[in-house]
Amino acid sequence: MIIDGKQIAQTLRNEMRDEVARLTAQYGRKPCLDVIIVGEDPASMSYVRSKIKASEYCGLDGELLRLPATTTEDELLRLIHERNDNPLVDGILVQLPLPHHINELSIIEAIAPEKDVDGFHPSNVAGLWLNRQTIVPCTPKGIMALLEATTTPLAGQHAVVVGRSNIVGKPVAKLLLDKNCTVTIAHSRTADLAAVCRTADILVVAVGRPHMITAEMVKLGATVIDVGINRLANGRLVGDVDYDGVAPIARAITPVPGGVGPMTIAMLIRNTIECYQRRITK
Ligand code: NDP
Repeated sequence: MIIDGKQIAQTLRNEMRDEVARLTAQYGRKPCLDVIIVGEDPASMSYVRSKIKASEYCGLDGELLRLPATTTEDELLRLIHERNDNPLVDGILVQLPLPHHINELSIIEAIAPEKDVDGFHPSNVAGLWLNRQTIVPCTPKGIMALLEATTTPLAGQHAVVVGRSNIVGKPVAKLLLDKNCTVTIAHSRTADLAAVCRTADILVVAVGRPHMITAEMVKLGATVIDVGINRLANGRLVGDVDYDGVAPIARAITPVPGGVGPMTIAMLIRNTIECYQRRITK
């Protein structure tokens, strides 16, 4: 089975568009997402364009704030504080990475936790690990939605997550644990990665190395979620999994592009709607 993230995300976007229309009629204003980008990194610009497009499609309000690469940390902090204080703004997204002279953690911590649609603020991270009401980061949330949409059995299954970043590996491992998977987190220092991966019923790969997971590393019938986005020298986008080699032995697999990527964006809209609902009904 090819897990068609593009199609699943489109279905979710249509549902959210209806939901936004209903909420707008009920509460008298649209959910509002402000997106801030500093500098002109082409990959970041392309992600931001997709986010704005999805936000407009679903009927959200919001502003795209494009700041020059020379913006200082203080200037960015001032802008964030201003949006924090604006009662009509429900979500604030600062596109990462930021230019080197700006401390990312200071920026993440400056965003009001209740408007932190990326779910990166330490209090939202703590909420995830302590099972409190929280905002779950978009990519891990999108991965779980893909597993649900494809009725992948989770309880009692062995999930191996390759990669331990704060934005993908660690949070997705926690979400899989919450669904009663037995979870192993592998990383660059894991001994015999191939053997570890071969024990996975569910294999989630978030590394950033083209085609590193080959057929010999995958158990027959495994569900494979490829988070990686790598641009080859010829301009082609590929994942971390050797799709052609692995697809014939997997029960289900996400393609790149068209797998996890569109779900990440759909979950940004979902998080914005959740922030809006929590704020407006408080
Ligand atoms: P990071 O660079 O933050 O983390 C990469 C992880 O991979 C690290 O934990 C690292 O281990 C591990 N790793 C590196 N080399 C190896 C190796 N040889 N064997 C095993 N593990 C290894 O990346 P991100 O989590 O931010 O992103 C991962 C990929 O996912 C990227 O391609 C990124 O573009 C993509 N991505 C896609 C998204 C989407 O929406 N589809 C969203 C976010 C990211 P260690 O900790 O030991 O260094």
